[in-house]
Amino acid sequence: MKCVFCDIVQKTAKAEILFEDEKIISFLDINPFNVGHSLVIPKTHYENFLEVPDELYEGMFSVVKLVTNGVVNGLQSDGYNILSNNGRAAGQSVFHCHFHIIPRFTTDGYKFKMDLKKYGNGEMNMIAEKIKSAIPF
Ligand code: AMP
Ligand code: ZN
Repeated sequence: MKCVFCDIVQKTAKAEILFEDEKIISFLDINPFNVGHSLVIPKTHYENFLEVPDELYEGMFSVVKLVTNGVVNGLQSDGYNILSNNGRAAGQSVFHCHFHIIPRFTTDGYKFKMDLKKYGNGEMNMIAEKIKSAIPF
């Protein structure tokens, strides 16, 4: 299956690489929300967050933190969003697991505000029970 992020890992597609080690690579997003918008991905192709094996997470999150430091301190951003879209319904467009690091400025105007809902009577507890019973301990 053709995957542009795998091509970046293989260096057959160009990218502005920020950091890489044996297992993880970070590069600039080609269509930034703000300049400096960065991505962190595992070098191995996993379609989404849940497919990434446990042993990779620690390394992946420490690279997210390293690159976030670079973005915030290098670009003097006032804040940052760290997010990961998973599944078409969530807006994922490249199906190779990735985290976005987006520098934010007080002048941005736009905030990622969700259209928040309210729970009905007893619904919150019912939903919590559904989630808790499905957590794979
Ligand atoms: P998502 O919509 O969460 O799957 O994010 C995919 C991101 O990958 C988008 O923000 C794209 O701009 C970015 N993207 C797609 N192709 C490239 C590429 N060749 N180099 C860098 N970023 C890319
Ligand atoms: Zn891939």
